[in-house]
Amino acid sequence: MTTRRNFIKSTAFASAALLINKSEAAELNLKQNETTLSKPIVLSTWNFGLKANEAAWEVLSKNGKALDAVEAGVKVPEGDPTERSVGYGGRPDRDGRVTLDACIMDENANIGSVACLEHIKHPISVARAVMEKTPHVMLVGDGALQFALSQGFQKENLLVEDSEKEWKEWLQNTNYKPIVNIENHDTIGMIALDASGNLSGACTTSGMAFKMHGRVGDSPIIGAGLYVDNEIGAATATGHGEEVIRIAGCHLVVELMRQGKSPEDACKEAVNRVVKLTANRKKNLKDIQVGFIALNKKGEYGSYCVQSGFNYAVYDGKGNNLIDADYHLK
Ligand code: ASP
Repeated sequence: MTTRRNFIKSTAFASAALLINKSEAAELNLKQNETTLSKPIVLSTWNFGLKANEAAWEVLSKNGKALDAVEAGVKVPEGDPTERSVGYGGRPDRDGRVTLDACIMDENANIGSVACLEHIKHPISVARAVMEKTPHVMLVGDGALQFALSQGFQKENLLVEDSEKEWKEWLQNTNYKPIVNIENHDTIGMIALDASGNLSGACTTSGMAFKMHGRVGDSPIIGAGLYVDNEIGAATATGHGEEVIRIAGCHLVVELMRQGKSPEDACKEAVNRVVKLTANRKKNLKDIQVGFIALNKKGEYGSYCVQSGFNYAVYDGKGNNLIDADYHLK
């Protein structure tokens, strides 16, 4: 039964609510979000992120560390021969060699990276070994391979039949145009916030298909393909590595979050820089795809990319979902 007192209370509340305009409501919402911690949470690029997130969630849901979660997560596409843009099964360079790039970063700014690494199925674990077992942060090419072998990693043939076939078809055409997928999966970048509130990230790829031998993209470069600042947030990237390196992409996204931008707005601003520089350099934006995903310390996340087709997977308390990123070229 509605008592007079309750009636007055609820009508008073209703009229107070009416006084709140749209922007005030948005602000109120923002404030509520600010205090809502969503953790643990893991985000990763493209639709193969769904499977990768499952492995990461196994770690995170048992109060495991974000660092262990991101390594376990990205190892899923790395080890899958049907995933043609990461690890085992990745497309080769124009000389027919599968060369892999990967990096990892933890909550204490420990970093490890490998570039142009051949014959090792899980470059992310080699990157982690560089981080934990050497005084260095990055090993490349044969040096990275020798280090991996010294750590007990097995030398394997990573070129699967389908990738070899595609490469041979590509060779028929003499135009040199390395391929980056605009609407399909490529690099896996993964960022996570664990139950203790710590952030980490990992990024791994076979890079642009049919690239020049020795070409390194953004994915193994800390600050470009991945960045983590445990006070602020984390970001990772996919798409044309050259464009991501040009703007030091993921470091930029994290710094924009430090200035108060939401993860999505930070990604959008970084994409705007790519757009602007592409115009300044008189290149065609239609040929370029760059996508960022970002997560802040509160567990808020977002993404933005140059053109449609990029998606990312988010696993939090509400389950594992694929989200289409908003994009610039409409
Ligand atoms: N960013 C990767 C590279 O440039 C490729 C990609 O994500 O599509 O090597």
